[in-house]
Amino acid sequence: MDIKSRIIHAGSDRDPFTGASGVPLYLASTFDRRRALSGDGHDYTRSGNPTRDALERAVADLEGGAAGFAFASGMAAVSSVLLLFAPGDHLIVSEDVYGGSFRVLTRLFSRWGIQTSFVDTTSPDAVAAAVTSETKGIFVETPSNPFLKITNLSFISALAKERKLLSIADNTFATPYLQRPFDFGFDIVVHSATKFLNGHSDVLAGIAVVREESLAERLRFIQNAFGAVLGVQDSWLLLRGLKTLAVRMDASQKTAGEIALRLSRIPQVRRVFYPGLDDHPGKLVHRSQASGFGAVVSFDLESAELAHRLLEKAALPLVSVSLGGVETILSHPATMSHASMPPKERALRGINDTLIRLSVGLESPEDIWEDLMSALQQE
Ligand SMILES: *Cc1c(COP(=O)(O)O)cnc(C)c1O
Repeated sequence: MDIKSRIIHAGSDRDPFTGASGVPLYLASTFDRRRALSGDGHDYTRSGNPTRDALERAVADLEGGAAGFAFASGMAAVSSVLLLFAPGDHLIVSEDVYGGSFRVLTRLFSRWGIQTSFVDTTSPDAVAAAVTSETKGIFVETPSNPFLKITNLSFISALAKERKLLSIADNTFATPYLQRPFDFGFDIVVHSATKFLNGHSDVLAGIAVVREESLAERLRFIQNAFGAVLGVQDSWLLLRGLKTLAVRMDASQKTAGEIALRLSRIPQVRRVFYPGLDDHPGKLVHRSQASGFGAVVSFDLESAELAHRLLEKAALPLVSVSLGGVETILSHPATMSHASMPPKERALRGINDTLIRLSVGLESPEDIWEDLMSALQQE
């Protein structure tokens, strides 16, 4: 079936016991042992719960992987996947990575003996040159945060296979509706499901999906042993949010494309970062691996004053961290999503005070545009 149909039916089709239109909330921490032993497998909710199982099956199906795992946040998913590595291992990670992923690697996993090189993964040569005899994994984000940089998934997975490295993609910005890294040979996909997968800015959640059963066993062990699992009610809300992924994504990215183009034509904007624009260096690579450009647009304003004015005066969007909601969200990476990065690292990446990230929601395109323009023009 087409992904639009699978978004509605995969993993969470009607309830097998009652025929109800959705999987119910199994608000139970424990299950009768005798029933568990007789075969349906549930014994304790940390190890598995029918509502969470349905969500995990749904996302695994959409990504085309062997198994999915739901966690309490995107960072819990990322961190649980990083527990696959061991002291002495070296990782290569996109330099333009979510601030929280940078923080957990440099301030937590580094203390447990895992070393990370942050590399411009848009450059095949730079990635190949960074591989050492200790390298065990490559972690990429494409499109990346906040510059929407594009990494060539086929190239990374080929290199990973050749050098026997685990390849991991953070697919938060594109979602499986637009891009499926397993089609290009990746081993693991992670998501902040807080963003587009849930889509309503009301749940914090993370997902990891693995392509093969052998990795599923290892991650299932970590999920249960480490225990950062997604709660039952949040699993249910996420299943519900996920149903409208395709229509939300279609509408938001249509508006995002239009707004990106208009922003690129006004004098107050120095540069727009959106993979759908002709001047984006990753446009062709992105087109070859994804079916749409997504709903996040970043742009650099002429001055920090202008950026502050926009954040102060914009009335329609939520001014906050996060993205991928039904509402338009305006954020300031330097003081929000990437505040956890030391100022020196931010400066190296060009995450300046003038940079704005816009996650385009489902409001009328004209209303979004007029609100942005009126905020920029206010004194
Ligand atoms: C938000 C985000 C995360 C972290 O997810 P949380 O749900 O906030 O823990 C990871 N990666 C990307 C790309 C994100 O945008």
